[in-house]
Amino acid sequence: MGQYSSSQSGAAAVQRPVAYLNRLRSLVPSADLVQKALVLAVVIIPFIATAVAVWQVWERYVTWRDIALLIAMYVPISLGVTAGFHRMLTHRSFKAHPIVRFVILVCGSMAIEGAAITWASDHLKHHAFSDKPGDPHSPREGGFWAHMGWVISGRAMHNVTTELLSYVPDLRKDKFHIWISKYHYVPIVILAVLLFVFGGWPYVMWGLFFRTTVGLHSTWLVNSATHMWGKQRFATGDDSRNSFWVALLTCGEGWHNNHHSQPQSARHGLAWYEIDLNWYAIRVLSALGLVWDVKAATLTS
Ligand SMILES: [Zn+2]
Ligand SMILES: [Zn+2]
Repeated sequence: MGQYSSSQSGAAAVQRPVAYLNRLRSLVPSADLVQKALVLAVVIIPFIATAVAVWQVWERYVTWRDIALLIAMYVPISLGVTAGFHRMLTHRSFKAHPIVRFVILVCGSMAIEGAAITWASDHLKHHAFSDKPGDPHSPREGGFWAHMGWVISGRAMHNVTTELLSYVPDLRKDKFHIWISKYHYVPIVILAVLLFVFGGWPYVMWGLFFRTTVGLHSTWLVNSATHMWGKQRFATGDDSRNSFWVALLTCGEGWHNNHHSQPQSARHGLAWYEIDLNWYAIRVLSALGLVWDVKAATLTS
């Protein structure tokens, strides 16, 4: 990781992350094979996990411990993506203590939504071309496409490296962000082993498979549902909308029209009744002095 030190100057330092990603790609046996395996995993595993979960509920094999584990895993990992990858990393809505930054990005990495830098660059493209040509996931190309088609088709992973990195010029210079992105798969592997050791397959089922399925579809609903259904408070020039039920599933990300209106705000739920768990968590961390420079929109701003 030292080779990505920000102390290096000029074009060499900028080229290093590009060189790293290109080298990583050259190590992959076959991009086509990897894509097919990924598609298979994304399509098959969630389907099996959901079927098993429904069967277990039907047969009353589910215990309160399973449900508690699901929630205990879901909330911090969801916050890792929504507060960490999205509000902190992509939009720079607040600054955080290094320990908070580490914990929140490790949690986000466990959502199996790819590396932090890749996630941020895809999302910045979405804001740059919202519902226009170039948007990675607009429902104008079809609701299913916006929800998961763009992922299972492999298009999300097919961005040209140089193009991808051009959306995150400062993130790619930060050695911590390069490091956490390079090893983004490690936390979920460790979690999987711990779940199996301490609870066997039931823990893996509820804490990993089913939790990931719910988490992925919740995130994807922000790309599909909140660009199709709900109310527009602000004339943002795109199809973004506010959705109460998506906000509940995503710890506050459903207030998507508010977000498109003021992307840098750490606060997405602007009215008192717009539940935004992310914003409450950020306020608590701010009160503890663990995050600062919090940008917060209001209804009148
Ligand atoms: Zn959007
Ligand atoms: Zn955003």
